[in-house]
Amino acid sequence: MKTDTIAAIATAMSPSGIGIIRISGEDAIEITDKIYRSKNNKKKISECKSHTIHYGYIYDGDEKIDEVMVVVMRAPATYTREDTIEIDCHGGVFVMKRILETVIKNGARPAEPGEYTKRAFLNGRIDLSQAESVIDVINSKNEFALKSSLSQLNGSVLKNVKSIREVLLHEIAFIESALDDPEHISLDGYPQKLESIVNKECDEIQALLNSSDNGRILKEGINTVIVGKPNAGKSSLLNILVGEDRAIVTDIAGTTRDVLEEQINLNGITLNLVDTAGIRDTEDIVEKIGVEKAMKHATGADLIIYVIDASVQLDDNDFDIINIIKDKNSIILLNKSDLSTIVDESEVRKYIDKTILSISAKNNDGIKELEDVIKNMFFDGTVSFNDEVYITNVRHKTLLNDSLESLKLVVNSIYDDMPEDFYSIDLMNAYESLGLIIGESVEDDLMTEIFSKFCMGK
Ligand code: GDP
Repeated sequence: MKTDTIAAIATAMSPSGIGIIRISGEDAIEITDKIYRSKNNKKKISECKSHTIHYGYIYDGDEKIDEVMVVVMRAPATYTREDTIEIDCHGGVFVMKRILETVIKNGARPAEPGEYTKRAFLNGRIDLSQAESVIDVINSKNEFALKSSLSQLNGSVLKNVKSIREVLLHEIAFIESALDDPEHISLDGYPQKLESIVNKECDEIQALLNSSDNGRILKEGINTVIVGKPNAGKSSLLNILVGEDRAIVTDIAGTTRDVLEEQINLNGITLNLVDTAGIRDTEDIVEKIGVEKAMKHATGADLIIYVIDASVQLDDNDFDIINIIKDKNSIILLNKSDLSTIVDESEVRKYIDKTILSISAKNNDGIKELEDVIKNMFFDGTVSFNDEVYITNVRHKTLLNDSLESLKLVVNSIYDDMPEDFYSIDLMNAYESLGLIIGESVEDDLMTEIFSKFCMGK
């Protein structure tokens, strides 16, 4: 079947050194022939060898649009496994658009978002989890997130999921064969054996799921709220955290002007400081109280940093905040340790049992300890990213959960002494859910192959 040819501007839509227009599909080369002329109008692109680059001009009819380099890559050794052309042009937005329009006028259609990667998947070059990882690579906010996406791209999710599926398929095939051929294959004692196999695979899936929370935090950052009563030192702390050379700060204006999120990169871990507008805005007394903020954000936050002014007595504001954060992931900072303090750790412990640190935002004391505590809270102190498989994708997580549920039903059926075909129904559901992660459905031929192992002589 002939697929249509797609085209898109592959580089950012902002003025830059060069821009790339990418064309993929069966007509990519033919279309380029229509619009490209080499310097002396000697050679057509269709006459050029694959994986070569050519200097010339793009024309819209008789009008010369730009001076370009054209890269020819013939199928199948391309990203999409289709014939692919890349036109390197000048990086002005207008000229890129103009070339794209010309390409489209001559037979291509605009690519949908992610369509190149979709084609790479459809043409079997990458599996679905790898395709999704490509998107993650593009969207990675920090270095560790990038590493984890790259690890998926290498197929580590694929490998884990495949090996679980193989085990499940083997058991399904065994049950089906035994039911088919009870004379030769006995199911005596099998349920117990199956139970231990299924439990082991449940553990594997659970381990993948456990890594997914870290995965999200790595990828998106730790959603953090700083709370505390006025003058406790919230903005001073914020300034320390975002200041200095370790910090990378980006202000993301939200839907309303006063919702502001700042991102801080602490040795590779990203903290998303939610709604810091109130902290910065000294006029806004209500927001500065921090109680309302705590209520508003405590539910969604991964971490609450509660700043206490240790140089003055705890008051009702503090007790309100303590009540709100009691059951949350929080760190308490006794600020202004450089002054003679009234509130100490044992005082605070009377009301709340959390990690308590003494700091001075003014003198930058205790900040290193704060960073260590945060790392310990989220990564058990060891941030090792290379070997582990992080399921950073919500879709993967949902499907892993589905497969886990199905496997638990298998174990229940064993306990309840249900007939064996009940096992295989749920095993098959788990197998299918896992298959959806990597974009594989149940393959009849694979089934047949495995069946043949058991049904000897049939
Ligand atoms: P916020 O209202 O919680 O944001 O508090 P600010 O950060 O604006 O701080 C209130 C006041 O306390 C300012 O005058 C700060 O200079 C001061 N302050 C903040 N942290 C410290 C500290 O660690 N030591 C001392 N001595 N003063 C501090």
